[in-house]
Amino acid sequence: MSAAEAVTDALRDLHRRFVDVREGERADYIPELTRSDTRDFGLALVSMDGHRYSAGAARTPFTLQSVSKPFVYALALSSLGLDEVDRWVGAEPSGEAYNAISLERRTGRPANAMVNAGAIVATALVPDTPEVPAFTRILTTLSRFAGRGLDVDEDVYASEAATGDRNRALAYLIRSTGVLPADPVAAVDTYFRQCAVRVTAVDLAVMAATLAHGGVNPVSGETVVTADVAAQVLAVMATCGMYNASGEWLLRVGLPAKSGVSGGLIAAGPARFGLATYSPLLDATGTSVRGRDAISALSERLGLHLMRNPALPGSTVTLATTADVLPSAPADREARALRERVGVVAAQGALDFTAVERVLFALDEAGPERAGPVVLDLREVTGADGVALALLHAGLARLAREGRRAAVVDPAGRLGPPALVRGRTGQDLPRYGSREEAVEHCARDLAGPA
Ligand code: GLU
Repeated sequence: MSAAEAVTDALRDLHRRFVDVREGERADYIPELTRSDTRDFGLALVSMDGHRYSAGAARTPFTLQSVSKPFVYALALSSLGLDEVDRWVGAEPSGEAYNAISLERRTGRPANAMVNAGAIVATALVPDTPEVPAFTRILTTLSRFAGRGLDVDEDVYASEAATGDRNRALAYLIRSTGVLPADPVAAVDTYFRQCAVRVTAVDLAVMAATLAHGGVNPVSGETVVTADVAAQVLAVMATCGMYNASGEWLLRVGLPAKSGVSGGLIAAGPARFGLATYSPLLDATGTSVRGRDAISALSERLGLHLMRNPALPGSTVTLATTADVLPSAPADREARALRERVGVVAAQGALDFTAVERVLFALDEAGPERAGPVVLDLREVTGADGVALALLHAGLARLAREGRRAAVVDPAGRLGPPALVRGRTGQDLPRYGSREEAVEHCARDLAGPA
């Protein structure tokens, strides 16, 4: 067995722990949903590298129901942009049940796209043309999120279509206030179809992982939505995804999540993982009981709460010293004395805003009396985002203005091509393939012309 089976074991453990919970009821207002097996309980986790782990009934098909909402909202946002979508559907937690008349008092605008009223509006916002009908776009998008072609459970669709008067009433009510951008009958029919799309817990975990991974499906590698849209959807899931239990969920579990009445539940750890459970027994808010309990337990056990800081301080800067203490320093006293005046900072990993701030701070501190040249060793840096790069350039430019020369060890060209560096820092930043060369250059500079 492989080492990574330990992750599967953690899911199996949760399965064992909660599979005997018998609390809750199946949703029966959509009659077809009562055909599900109440013993079914599946869990799945997908990492940002697209590794899939699962336990229990993770390949048992069921219908998306409300778990479709964040993904259709993502499609509406991708098609129209946040400002336009926001005109039709808000982003405030309603504090009410999923099927409540959660409409803004004056405007009639639904509270958010995670409750039925707002979800119907989000569906109505999806472009609908004779060449590409709205539902085709929705099914294609859901399939891209899952990384495979999904289909509709026609029986569940027919069952909800036959009994879904409350949703039709909601649609007409919204239409009467002028905030439904489509025909109510057509919009609700498309909405019922999207709710009846068939998935498994593994599919859902991939879909959640795609949101967590900035809109790029980590299994297929396909960009499904932009990073901005993924972040917007996760934000609304965090505040509104669990209906009238959303605040309590964010407080205790701390993960953007979405539940559905067929028993599916997704949770996303931004930049970390996608998680999904399936178990049809629901609590009073319409959330799967076993799923709720298992995800809560996992979040607590693995410290996944969003508001906890996952970045370990000190893990970016691996060395902050002077060149005389490097193992490569020569024994010669004079050479050593020069090297005492050369600061050395080495960084590692991926540089974002948080990480680069540490590097800049270390650069300031480097060298005796915070003065003299400084070698910045970027060989162990694996990447830098745009924000980090701009800040690093700005910091190096400031250093130069204070008369401190920097020599950067950057064989992989993380700082960008020389012309870009000159443009940004206002100096020809010398760059070296090895730390020793950079130190030698700075020491020679200090010694002055021979
Ligand atoms: N199709 C369901 C409805 O509109 C979805 C609700 C849910 O999953 O919470 O009633």
